Amino acid sequence: MWRWRICGAGAVLILGLLTQGVASVASAATLRTELDEGLVAVLTEESAILVEALPLRGEGLLALSRRLCGSSAPAARIRDLNGGARELLAGARYRVPLDLLEPGLQSRVIDSLFPADEARADSWAHSVRGGQGESLWQIAEWFTGRGESFREIRDFNSLLDEQIVAGQVLLIPAGILRQPFLGAVATRALTPPEDLEYGRDRSGEYALYRLQSGEALYSAVVVRFTGRLFADDVNALATDIARRSDIADVTDIPVGYPVKIPLDLLSPQFLPPGHPGRTEYEANRTASARFSNRVRTLDLQGVTVVLDAGHGGRDVGASRGGVWESVYVYDIMQRLRRLLESRTAARVVVTTSAGAGGIEDRDVLSFSRQHAVLTDPPYTIEDARVGTNLRWYLSNSILERIVKAGFDPEEVVFVSIHADSLHPSLRGAMVYVPGLLPTRDGYGKSGTVYAARKEVQQRPRVSFSREERVRSEGLSRELAQHVIASLRRRSLAVHPNQPVRDKIVRGRGTPWVPAVLRYNAVPAKILVEVCNLGNPRDLELIQTRAFRQDVAQALADGLLLYYGANPSSPQRAVAAAGD
Ligand SMILES: [Zn+2]
Repeated sequence: MWRWRICGAGAVLILGLLTQGVASVASAATLRTELDEGLVAVLTEESAILVEALPLRGEGLLALSRRLCGSSAPAARIRDLNGGARELLAGARYRVPLDLLEPGLQSRVIDSLFPADEARADSWAHSVRGGQGESLWQIAEWFTGRGESFREIRDFNSLLDEQIVAGQVLLIPAGILRQPFLGAVATRALTPPEDLEYGRDRSGEYALYRLQSGEALYSAVVVRFTGRLFADDVNALATDIARRSDIADVTDIPVGYPVKIPLDLLSPQFLPPGHPGRTEYEANRTASARFSNRVRTLDLQGVTVVLDAGHGGRDVGASRGGVWESVYVYDIMQRLRRLLESRTAARVVVTTSAGAGGIEDRDVLSFSRQHAVLTDPPYTIEDARVGTNLRWYLSNSILERIVKAGFDPEEVVFVSIHADSLHPSLRGAMVYVPGLLPTRDGYGKSGTVYAARKEVQQRPRVSFSREERVRSEGLSRELAQHVIASLRRRSLAVHPNQPVRDKIVRGRGTPWVPAVLRYNAVPAKILVEVCNLGNPRDLELIQTRAFRQDVAQALADGLLLYYGANPSSPQRAVAAAGD
């Protein structure tokens, strides 16, 4: 049950809106809908989204914070936003902004204030209401947190001017959405399809999927539902699933044919509702979704970006047709570094160096084995594992130095750039974030190569509490979503299913999180696979400067968005900077 009420002042303002257009809109009708007794969702005249809550009998500030936000951590902010008094007054309304609310309540607030809206796979669809005098400016404030991004919404929807009418559906692209709308769009892509059925036969439990027209077993079933991406895994599982489903020829499966996927191969989000694996996965996602980046800065002022190019030296990474992953991702890292240093106020620290050379102004790059991890002393990469481990040691040491200098850990981000070599049916980029897999209490490396380095001596072992890992997953996901949205906005290919992944799954083995993320103490950290060298089109693309520059720009856009800046307005320079 919900009701709309429009404040008296609203009607006058609506008239103003219609005549003055978007630019001058300062405020409009307040919208209030009741959620529960004593709990009201509100759109304020200043376009803020919040709840107004009456304290329960005997409820103090901490308890109110726990009830509405799921934890007592935001209590001080709630106090400051409501006049600063420590004691709650019975009968007084306390305002709590949307971004502080626990995810379940956030969804209820959004559903009640925007009942006709919906999250789509890559955008938020807002249905313009009649009678409330909505403006593009306001819509931009509600969903992106910045009125200025009305231009982007206008352009995304191909509007000729700022006039909008009741009933019109406006799409707000994921790239500029703020949490929790961005989160809703991201989880939308995860929602199990309605058409997955479950059953059991002599071989055990299975999920049943009926192939649609034009779908192939490899991509539509194996990649999508089991999370396997590497060619040998995808082929092996496709063979297993075909046998289980009595499919004789995997290249000739009739539309609608029931394909049985053994339950133990499914990614957790596709397990039957109520299955312990799925319940645990959803609980983790809900817990991590509670955390979002609170640091806001216009041009990355105060932000340190730790940039990591994967592999290097004797470790060339994936290698296809004369393309070494190490050489090409190093070039993208250099381009991103140049963009950030020339167009933003961010401080950039890199983990590796290939020597003094600048960015090569050519499409096909020369081979190099010069890369060293910039520890003290540097490590010329001989062994891939040592190279990876020294990267997280280095990153942890950088973080420690920055925090000691008085910065917030959330002002540091870690971005590792890779290109993978997967099943050829896959195209485009994806991003790994650190998922909540079971982990050892502490982890550290021993041996002379490690013991010789200052970063290892400073902190030989790492361990993280569950709370730290949950928080890190939440922040990393948010960063990853902005990066994926930015890649899409630049029309760069991304994986159609789950472009953000929280683990690597190989064969029937135990999933794992890449070490450079897993033991890394930076809260927001991502590993970006910029394209699939196993796909001929991607392999061609990475051998062009234009693609590598586009990727670097999308990564810069993603970082700006994560910190609440708009890459298309004052920081347009970032978007426009090119070779
Ligand atoms: Zn790699």
